[in-house]
Amino acid sequence: MDKIKLLSDAIANQIAAGEVVQRPASVVKELLENSIDAGALNLKLIVKESGKTLIQVIDDGSGMSPTDARMSFERHATSKIKESIDLFNIRTMGFRGEALASIAAVAQVEMKTRREEDEVGTLIRIEGSEVVEQDFIQAAKGTSIAVKNLFFNVPARRKFLKSNPVEMKHIIEEFQRVALAHPDVSFILYHNDIEVMNLPAARLSKRITDALDKSYRDQLAKCEIETDVVKITGYVGKPQSAKKTKGDQYFFVNKRFIKSNYLHHAVVNAFESAIPEGTHPFYTLFLEIHPENIDINIHPTKTEIKFDNEQLIYAVLRSAVKQSIGVYNLTPSIDFDA
Ligand code: ADP
Ligand code: MG
Repeated sequence: MDKIKLLSDAIANQIAAGEVVQRPASVVKELLENSIDAGALNLKLIVKESGKTLIQVIDDGSGMSPTDARMSFERHATSKIKESIDLFNIRTMGFRGEALASIAAVAQVEMKTRREEDEVGTLIRIEGSEVVEQDFIQAAKGTSIAVKNLFFNVPARRKFLKSNPVEMKHIIEEFQRVALAHPDVSFILYHNDIEVMNLPAARLSKRITDALDKSYRDQLAKCEIETDVVKITGYVGKPQSAKKTKGDQYFFVNKRFIKSNYLHHAVVNAFESAIPEGTHPFYTLFLEIHPENIDINIHPTKTEIKFDNEQLIYAVLRSAVKQSIGVYNLTPSIDFDA
């Protein structure tokens, strides 16, 4: 007798959720990015008990039709790409069509959404991949998605969530990353009904001080360079603002937060003797690279990425940072190669 069976959608989604949804902060990231992709200008994030009981994002973006609202929870359902060639020209945060399906497989989700042109909005309630309610409702333009009781049906995962302060720290990190990438969008964060952060739309320098650390105010050195392969903009901290603790180092490639030890090394290398050993320079740097020359499809969370011209980007970045902090003037003797 044959033994192989196709898994049900609910189980397949739950397995996929294992990769995309590791903790409340992963949900925060996916929801905020969806709102950004929907063109929202005002975002509200409401969490309770560090996201363990509630993670809600309310946006004023495009909203969805009733059919799209239902479709958005299907796995591999996306409005962002259509054919495989689109994978090489990604300009949105999302494209895998997996997040909402994964989240709905491991939580109780309530979505309210309305497009500007529609008179009534749509309400959908879905629990463990099962739609339990769909209705027409009065709703503001945009989308509100409330994710309740994450991992309610996966006790093993719920048990492994960390303490509230730790989970909240991860949430704030994701919130800060998205907020830094989009200074022109306003963000508010509430935790247990208390306003934790309120970031009005602003220029990048103000967003940095609002979202990260007020003391960076007079410490930001502008970084700007444009070549054929990469355009770099943003700020690095002046050498004297380097901290003993790590954490305020941000790279965004086409507005997507990424981690790269290789590029980090380029920045640190540019600072060389300008900062004391064991201290970490601040940076928020935006790299614009033609989507054809990067591959963001390495990992579901999309924080790792592959560059075609890695070495060239390293060199451009290093010299851009050197220029902006004036290392050339500070230590001309060790810069023979410059
Ligand atoms: P992806 O973002 O990779 O497309 P998701 O599962 O995150 O996949 O979302 C599925 C689809 O639902 C999106 O492609 C988009 O069309 C729609 N969607 C999700 N969130 C929103 C939102 N906040 N506003 C408008 N549309 C949304
Ligand atoms: Mg998405």
